[in-house]
Amino acid sequence: MWRVAFRDVHMVEKQQVMAALSKVRGPDLDGDLVSLDLVSDVVISGDNVMFAITVDAARANELEPLRQAAEQAVSKLDGVEKVMAALTAEVKAGSRPAAGQTPPPAGANMAPPPPMGQPGPKAQAAQTMAGVPGVKHIVAVASGKGGVGKSTTSVNLALGLQANGLKVGILDADIYGPSVPRLLGITGRPEPVSPGSRTLRPLEGFGLKAMSMGFLVEEDTPMIWRGPMVMSALQQMLREVAWGDLDVLIVDMPPGTGDAQLTLAQQTPLSGAVIVSTPQDLALIDARKGLNMFRKVNVPVLGIVENMSYFMCTKCGERHEIFGHGGARDEAEKLGLPFLGEVPLDKDLRIRSDSGQPIVVSAPDSHHTGLYRAIAETVWTSVLGDSAGQKRAAPRIIVE
Ligand code: ADP
Repeated sequence: MWRVAFRDVHMVEKQQVMAALSKVRGPDLDGDLVSLDLVSDVVISGDNVMFAITVDAARANELEPLRQAAEQAVSKLDGVEKVMAALTAEVKAGSRPAAGQTPPPAGANMAPPPPMGQPGPKAQAAQTMAGVPGVKHIVAVASGKGGVGKSTTSVNLALGLQANGLKVGILDADIYGPSVPRLLGITGRPEPVSPGSRTLRPLEGFGLKAMSMGFLVEEDTPMIWRGPMVMSALQQMLREVAWGDLDVLIVDMPPGTGDAQLTLAQQTPLSGAVIVSTPQDLALIDARKGLNMFRKVNVPVLGIVENMSYFMCTKCGERHEIFGHGGARDEAEKLGLPFLGEVPLDKDLRIRSDSGQPIVVSAPDSHHTGLYRAIAETVWTSVLGDSAGQKRAAPRIIVE
């Protein structure tokens, strides 16, 4: 799936993709994927091709070879560098199930195959998500909307955890607007761990293992992906990357609380989530939605960070509460959640962030670094559970 091959510069066309897929036999070997109308929209972005194959959710694991065959057929085309095929149980537009019948969540079929000796897909109803080998905890950083500083918080939280002595990775799941490469100043492409391997070696920035869609596609490539494709890409970034031994992997979630985010929260074995909000009321309503989203899938919310909390004027020395102030703290109290801290608006933080020099490493003695390290400490303490140091087990996430 991550296969990288160098071919002539030649843009593949949808027709060619469909022609290649028409040579792949359907699930029961009667007919082909195209004539059986099982191929979703084909998205072509430069030399990347993405598509989904509609299958019965209960047969997802059994049909993995079909997915691979489809991928292989398309990857042979000239002008194709990467192919991402996802099996989806998503009901096609126009053929929605009758009221009362709930379709499986987008991406539910992307669950990895059960470990050896575990029950098969039919028995999956009550099965937990498999963890990521070597990764002890996964913590999501989420926000109700974009532009509130979620990625800035993710990166500095990750570096704060690292500064507190932990082995940390960061997964940029904000597939629509990946910013971790820029924030960590990393360029380059992840390479397979060995020739022909599907598993990629993560890149590294300031000691953090990092993976982002931004490493795999150009920054200005539009990514109009449908839910299942997003899920498939994210599952690969989570599970087909050699993370090595990590105490914690920070997942910078896509902004918002829509279906893709809900599915991601449901499909990832999260130990907890941090919600970032600005003090504005609107953002707080969004933050509440974020909280509800994680509650729905049984993921503990570790607390709220109020970002762009106030502005300390270096000229007049006064504190300006531009967006109002304290809303997140009050809200956290009302919701019975830990308030993790308030991070002021700061030009220096923005300049450092946007030039790939995160403040926690580039200004280790700054006020902001102190804040992020304190936030990291609180987050880690609650990940580990109570003061007795009891480890909180990853929540049991049920794939319905
Ligand atoms: P999101 O991930 O929520 O979209 P980002 O982390 O990308 O948000 O931040 C959006 C912009 O705001 C970036 O330019 C970032 O440098 C800036 N920013 C974030 N937090 C602060 C802050 N506390 N002070 C000043 N600028 C900030």
